[in-house]
Amino acid sequence: MRYAEVSVNSLVAQRRTFSYAIPSGLSIEVGQAVWVPFGEKILQGIVLEISPYPAVEETREIIDVIEPHPLLSPAQVMLARWISEHYLSPLFDAVALMLPPGFERKALTFVSITPNPDARVLSSLSPEQRQVFVLVQKQGKIGLKELEKRLGKKKAQTSVTQLVGRGLAVRSYELEPVKISPKRVPYLRLNVAVSQAREMAAKLREKRTIKQANLLSFLAEQSEPVPWTEARQKTSCEKSVADALCRKGLVIFQQIEVKREPISYQDITPTSPLKLTAAQQLAFNSIRDAIHRVKAQPNVFLLHGVTGSGKTEIYLQALAETVKLSKRGIVLVPEIALTPQTIERFASRFPHRVAILHSKLSPGEQFDEWQRIKDGEFDVVIGPRSALFAPQPELRLIVLDEEHEWTYKQQDKSPRYHARDVAIKLAELTGAVVILGSATPDVATYYHTRQGDYCLLQLLERVVPIEKSPLPQVEVIDLRDELKAGNRSIFSRSLAHATTKAVASGEQVILFLNRRGGATFIQCRSCGFVLRCRRCEVTLTHHFAEDVLVCHQCNYKTPVPQICPRCSSRQIKFLGIGTQKLEQEASSTLPQARMLRWDSDITKRKESHKEILGKFRAHRADILIGTQMVAKGLDLPRVTLVGVVSADTSLNLPDFRAGERTFQLLSQVAGRAGRGPLGGQVIIQTFSPEHYAIQAAAKHDYASFYDKEIGYRRQLRNPPFTQLALLTYSHTNDALCQRESEKMRGRLIEERDAKGIAELNLIGPAPAFFHRLRGRFRWQIILRGTELPAFLSPIPLPQGWTIDIDPVTLL
Ligand code: ADP
Ligand code: ZN
Ligand code: ZN
Repeated sequence: MRYAEVSVNSLVAQRRTFSYAIPSGLSIEVGQAVWVPFGEKILQGIVLEISPYPAVEETREIIDVIEPHPLLSPAQVMLARWISEHYLSPLFDAVALMLPPGFERKALTFVSITPNPDARVLSSLSPEQRQVFVLVQKQGKIGLKELEKRLGKKKAQTSVTQLVGRGLAVRSYELEPVKISPKRVPYLRLNVAVSQAREMAAKLREKRTIKQANLLSFLAEQSEPVPWTEARQKTSCEKSVADALCRKGLVIFQQIEVKREPISYQDITPTSPLKLTAAQQLAFNSIRDAIHRVKAQPNVFLLHGVTGSGKTEIYLQALAETVKLSKRGIVLVPEIALTPQTIERFASRFPHRVAILHSKLSPGEQFDEWQRIKDGEFDVVIGPRSALFAPQPELRLIVLDEEHEWTYKQQDKSPRYHARDVAIKLAELTGAVVILGSATPDVATYYHTRQGDYCLLQLLERVVPIEKSPLPQVEVIDLRDELKAGNRSIFSRSLAHATTKAVASGEQVILFLNRRGGATFIQCRSCGFVLRCRRCEVTLTHHFAEDVLVCHQCNYKTPVPQICPRCSSRQIKFLGIGTQKLEQEASSTLPQARMLRWDSDITKRKESHKEILGKFRAHRADILIGTQMVAKGLDLPRVTLVGVVSADTSLNLPDFRAGERTFQLLSQVAGRAGRGPLGGQVIIQTFSPEHYAIQAAAKHDYASFYDKEIGYRRQLRNPPFTQLALLTYSHTNDALCQRESEKMRGRLIEERDAKGIAELNLIGPAPAFFHRLRGRFRWQIILRGTELPAFLSPIPLPQGWTIDIDPVTLL
């Protein structure tokens, strides 16, 4: 007898597997999906291990396989286990990341008659049992639901159990079917013989109905039905022309099912590799060697280079190198909707060999794409963080573009994984090469290159020579001076002047304001002093209800001061403006300019990213106002001015990554200006012009930013020198949250002392930055130490708690 360790699709399973016996005659492999009995239920499970011994004494048997072939590769099985252990997530949540879309469904029970039923047993059936037997026999196989509908639930279930018990019938299980609606498109074809069509075309031409004649002749030349869109394009006719021919009975529309192509290749011209610059070549050589496994270590590369330095070209050529070896790649992008240019470049270099995964596809389409990937139809899969789990066979290359982006961390649901760390783990398990690309690498990533864990490759200059496209000039405006000069507008004199001038010259302007500008912080308008917690260095937040200032890390509370602790001014202000307010002010400052706002309130609809960008690119607006979305990789040559309305909104967040975040945002936004021959200028407004993150961003100087930042991290014992874990409890009752959190703190301290761990800080409990979210209160405990998953693993987390290992934000 062999046994299987199965990850079961049940909430109570948590992080463990269950042992099942493998019945003889059932062929089971690691990674296979199976039906297993679980209490009274039949559930889905995935086999993670096969062994000659069961882990427990009493085992039940696996009922059946769900799919004949394994769904997960052995490497994926190990990856799922690692994710569950590292992020302390339920095992099946980790496994589910790798299952085909729509796989998690209910089991449907079917009943059929056993071959050659025993005549003696048959003759002993009650009339009721016989009725059921005959019914099932007539159908061959029948759903239990169907039987229940015909006979009543009770009668159907009892009879089936009795028939199965007597060996006359068997049950089998299938997944509820997915509702897939295949995509159909209209095709046009002739409804008459070719010769007749030609004759008619000639007649139409005589009658000077030229467009109908053209369309008809075109169709007469085709051997097969033609997609309507193609016919329309090639003959430049409208729908009414085709309709007219339809009415005359000459042509006919037909709906034909098509295999959906994830990318429209119509407007894409194939490209070939560019000749690499010397700097690119140097970087590429190291990557190529790793892909060919000339050198085994390290296999993680940080490709550090400003926007336009040629990183994407290196990804493309690395992939070509991979394909040469009959291997494949996965490319992750921070957000599909914001990266159309990257996707187009891959599609044009590898026509029809690119799979795109994103949530806009219907479940059926996602399933289709998953299956085609598994069948090896694509050289590369491109998608957001979840694309990392695509069943790409023969994986040899993983690219994370803009590796510093926080969207790579799944925050809203379990498992709360970071795609960068998981990618590196997957590479370790499969021997793949990882390229992390960024203009502003995550401080932790850069630190790893300094430690020799990853290999640093640098592209110091833009590919287009410096004279033609220099990095833009950055001017930092001290908003305190503006106030002293009596200017209370959110536009400094410089920014107002530059904006007016640019708009008047027919150029375009981007005004950037971090979305989180709504977050409150308290600042002295005279000297710029921001109130911070003395213990944690983070900004204090105003709580309206109690009218006090609170530290969201340690729950330190203090009354709102009447005068500034530094300069004794009475100008203490609660700050926070959003993009809407900005739009209002901009309109009154510049009444002649055409505005366009771009933030998540506006882009809920499907195509709106494209629409807004299209509008702006077509110069149907002069000023684009937006949140961090405008900072992403857009190439807008007419933009000559980028104004950062307030650099302080991200700088003053109560989070130790606030400096890093600000540097990244400012660098990215600054990169938007001067992308065309007109050159560019950036204006950053701030109350803290001396802050190192702002200074470094203004000078496009990553190295000096990194040196400062890593120094602070070391000093304050923050990552990458330690690890963090964030425990959050949420409930509708605030007092209960506090009690539960205190209890958990006690439990954690007990564990820490029992294990004698000195280097473990517990911070909090305290209300979360977003104390109340969707009607629920949230309290947090932050742990700072090393090897936190191992420490936390044995501590049971009651319902209401969530856990986030290596959180990207503490808010
Ligand atoms: P990044 O990904 O760092 O922003 P890209 O790869 O997009 O940089 O390159 C910036 C621009 O330079 C693109 O228009 C690209 O086509 C072009 N480019 C990149 N490498 C070369 C090269 N070796 N020769 C000529 N043009 C190049
Ligand atoms: Zn504090
Ligand atoms: Zn002051």
